[in-house]
Amino acid sequence: MKQFKNYVDGRWVGSDRRFADVNPVDGERIGDVHEADRATVDEAVRAARRALAGAWGRTSPTDRSALLYRIADEIDRRSEDFLEAEMQDTGKPLSMVRSIDVPRGAANFRAFADLLKTAPLESHMLHLPGGARALNYAVRKPLGVIGVISPWNLPLLLLTWKVAPALACGNAVVAKPSEETPGTATLLAEVMDAVGLPPGVFNLVHGFGAGSAGELITHHPDIDAITFTGESATGSAIMRAAADGVKPVSFELGGKNAAIVFADCDFEKMLDGMMRAVFLNSGQICLCSERVYVERPLYEKFCGALASRVRRLKLGRPRDADTDMGPLISAEHRDKVLGYFRLAREEGARVVVGGGAPAFHDDRDGGFWVEPTVLTGLAESARCVREEIFGPVCHVAPFDR
Ligand code: NAD
Repeated sequence: MKQFKNYVDGRWVGSDRRFADVNPVDGERIGDVHEADRATVDEAVRAARRALAGAWGRTSPTDRSALLYRIADEIDRRSEDFLEAEMQDTGKPLSMVRSIDVPRGAANFRAFADLLKTAPLESHMLHLPGGARALNYAVRKPLGVIGVISPWNLPLLLLTWKVAPALACGNAVVAKPSEETPGTATLLAEVMDAVGLPPGVFNLVHGFGAGSAGELITHHPDIDAITFTGESATGSAIMRAAADGVKPVSFELGGKNAAIVFADCDFEKMLDGMMRAVFLNSGQICLCSERVYVERPLYEKFCGALASRVRRLKLGRPRDADTDMGPLISAEHRDKVLGYFRLAREEGARVVVGGGAPAFHDDRDGGFWVEPTVLTGLAESARCVREEIFGPVCHVAPFDR
């Protein structure tokens, strides 16, 4: 069994309070996650503050840029470990983890390392009437200790997308990954350790949101800013918590994207794009399309063609070469998505394809799978058309020009 510990002030810190990390493919326990308590979060914040007051606070952009490249190189060097951890935590196909999650994890550090080298320093001389001159210049300063809270759907990609810019700008970080996906975040802490990031600059705490490490971060008086990706409702709660200390927040929240299909499109190309837009990562991406509007002359043909493509999708294990789609992240999330399928029927939807949970008659029946699903016939006011489902599902409706 793996042990996912907290990384605080350059040391691994365990906890008596532990919860299970589970593989969504079959529901098997991968390991134990050590939940950070208040004392551990406090120590992480103090360590971050000490790092800022020490040598880290005096690093030059050139030094930080070099360090970010080293972090990216180390992620690349350990890419097989990252691939395995991401697949175990999420059940995503290897093809996706290999082409998107892990390379983007490294690229995020390179992108901000590049930016650091070219960030302009604004300064200009003003010539005032009478021959006087005034020098105007901008000073770029770190915000301080940044609380980073990230979701489970693209665990490494979205965590590094926040950590890399924070470090690039000279901040120190207390990061909390989703309770569902502690694996690659813990590896990232190992990477920080291996490249010699000074203790306290990057701290990792594990736990849940409300009543746990997430809330301890957002309410912490000595954290200077919060950056968060996740559900809109969680964003509201965090904004309320941040209001107390008037902390700046940076959010990327939920979505309910619409796709529009015009009758004169290149049909096969459009269909390829639509399959990706709706079903990539089992629909668990904020920019997946859950509402599809098709110009009326193409509507029947589109519904038939989409349904036949969906029937051919192969639900499989991450390393199977023919896998198109993996499971959902957790039992709780599967039940939520299945609840929306039930609600869609109550709201009067026609289920064109899917609409339930598959049966594999093997160990995957212990996992968290739902069928890729296409719905039609709902009114614009239906909850299934208005609320983010975050699963492999879309509702298709016709429109006229
Ligand atoms: P979530 O909001 O449930 O959790 C995200 C993180 O916030 C987790 O680490 C969680 O532990 C923490 N958290 C939860 N409640 C908290 C609280 N009260 N205080 C502090 N922290 C708290 O989101 P999720 O289910 O992990 O991710 C899916 C959601 O994320 C979807 O809504 C999706 O659209 C959104 N998302 C948005 C983007 C984007 O770029 N806009 C990208 C990915 C995901």
